[in-house]
Amino acid sequence: MHRPLRIGVLALQGAFREHAVALRRLGAEVTEVRLPGDLEGLDGLVIPGGESTTIMHLAQLYGLDEAIRGYQGPILGTCAGMIVLDRKHLGLADLNVDRNAFGRQVKSFEADVALAGDDRPLRGVFIRAPRIRGLGDDVEVLGVLAGEPVLVRDGRLLLASFHPELTDDPRVHERFLAMIEEAAHVRA
Ligand code: GLN
Repeated sequence: MHRPLRIGVLALQGAFREHAVALRRLGAEVTEVRLPGDLEGLDGLVIPGGESTTIMHLAQLYGLDEAIRGYQGPILGTCAGMIVLDRKHLGLADLNVDRNAFGRQVKSFEADVALAGDDRPLRGVFIRAPRIRGLGDDVEVLGVLAGEPVLVRDGRLLLASFHPELTDDPRVHERFLAMIEEAAHVRA
């Protein structure tokens, strides 16, 4: 029997609606996560871009910081969502980031990201984007911009410096759903 994947999108602040649209387009069932109990029964979780200090603050207020630390499933973190997962915040991803480190503090831009194993570049929207630093040994680089990692995988975590939910290209979300299917096969 095949049921749609159930994906939670952390809906405290930021671009959560756009992620929900992108995931529904790919056939997933989407729940907005605002309380620890909303994590139950999810096949995967998305932490969107926005403002990482605000997302962390609200997560702490609702007990979602501990709940997400304890969540065992695959997680997609984009932009502020990646910051929230790094060593200095929730400590789930084996990397650090420099916030707002692409160009000046206010700089936002679009650029083509080169993907590993795919000839077609992916258009990336970078909004006061974090720079990835200090990658752990087991972190796999899946996308680069000007020689720097901007899309990486650390086991069950998929992390992007940019905003894949703001373009029509579904490849990052597809990859995340494929990671979830893979994990389910390994468990079965
Ligand atoms: N600059 C933001 C932060 O530090 C991230 C920006 C984004 O998510 N687009 O949280």
